[in-house]
Amino acid sequence: MKNTTLGILGGGQLGSLLASAAKKIGIKTIIFCDDINAPAQKFSDDFIFSEYHNQKKINEFIKKVDIVTFEFENIPYETLNIINKNRKVLPSPQINQIIQNRLKEKNLINSLGIKTTSYASVKNINDLNFNSKLLPGILKTCTLGYDGKGQFKINSIKDISSTNINFENQYILEKLVDLKKEISIIITRFGENSYEIYEPIENLHENQILKYSKIPADVNEKIIDTSKKWAKLISEELKYIGTLCVEYFIDKKDNLYVNEIAPRVHNSGHLTINSHNISQFENHVRAVCNLEKKNTIKLFNAQMINLIGDDILKYRNKKINKNEFFYDYYKKDIKINRKMGHLTKLINL
Ligand code: ADP
Ligand code: MG
Repeated sequence: MKNTTLGILGGGQLGSLLASAAKKIGIKTIIFCDDINAPAQKFSDDFIFSEYHNQKKINEFIKKVDIVTFEFENIPYETLNIINKNRKVLPSPQINQIIQNRLKEKNLINSLGIKTTSYASVKNINDLNFNSKLLPGILKTCTLGYDGKGQFKINSIKDISSTNINFENQYILEKLVDLKKEISIIITRFGENSYEIYEPIENLHENQILKYSKIPADVNEKIIDTSKKWAKLISEELKYIGTLCVEYFIDKKDNLYVNEIAPRVHNSGHLTINSHNISQFENHVRAVCNLEKKNTIKLFNAQMINLIGDDILKYRNKKINKNEFFYDYYKKDIKINRKMGHLTKLINL
């Protein structure tokens, strides 16, 4: 499809990196976002500032685009659905509705015979007491959490006081995994049994926020094979079109569990911009715009560091080496725990 205009819902760094990848291959982009300062407008061809429920603005957006995707999974389902009646939204809104909800997501994964940590639905304090076998665990809101937001670590039943948990939300209680490490698989599905899949990426979190990613991941062959196999199985079951990320836990006994699925490009895949001939962002744009699938090849090993909060200040004036690539997300305000940029370092194969 030449002269395609791709609409992107959401205007953060993932939107910026998608828009840049699209530009590189001649696809125009329009960002639709409820933040007037959305950084992605610097990288896109057009920008619509609007609440996600504004029908008039949605109509304006629909008229301007050929195809629509989203950069984060918490876009209201209603909005995705309305747009999808007029312009195709990829990945499909139904997929997003499942993955937006941690409980539905985990039920789906387990229905495929894929392992997750043990979990239970929690609607009130009784449910928590009843599931004390899952402790120590993490109580997470079923919807709208990211970067550890909406999560409470619960070591024992003594920790539970109904006062600090707002039971208007629905929760999932997950058993704590005795973590050895975390990895992610990024896969782009173009159609039935048609994929590009990146090797596992090893991820290190600090305060439940991704801090470092690297390839190759230091894991055994069996984990490499199983993590890829499960990512294919999940994306095939969902009939997914575009780039998807599966986050995994590996425990001290080398058991592999799916942590969660991100129905979008993912922070751990930022290093693919520089390490591969085709990044996760370009593959996403190619898949949703129905462009040719190209063989994705690793050119370098790589390490990525997220620049969170004040970290960015050090890097803005720093001399960057030839094998390093610095990305500033140009966010208006520096905030604690906010992802402000990242740096990728390449290592020869
Ligand atoms: P988010 O949507 O915020 O990324 P995650 O469920 O991925 O939420 O949790 C963020 C991080 O918190 C994980 O990457 C992991 O480091 C830690 N974490 C979450 N759940 C568990 C668990 N059940 N056992 C061990 N660590 C966990
Ligand atoms: Mg996560």
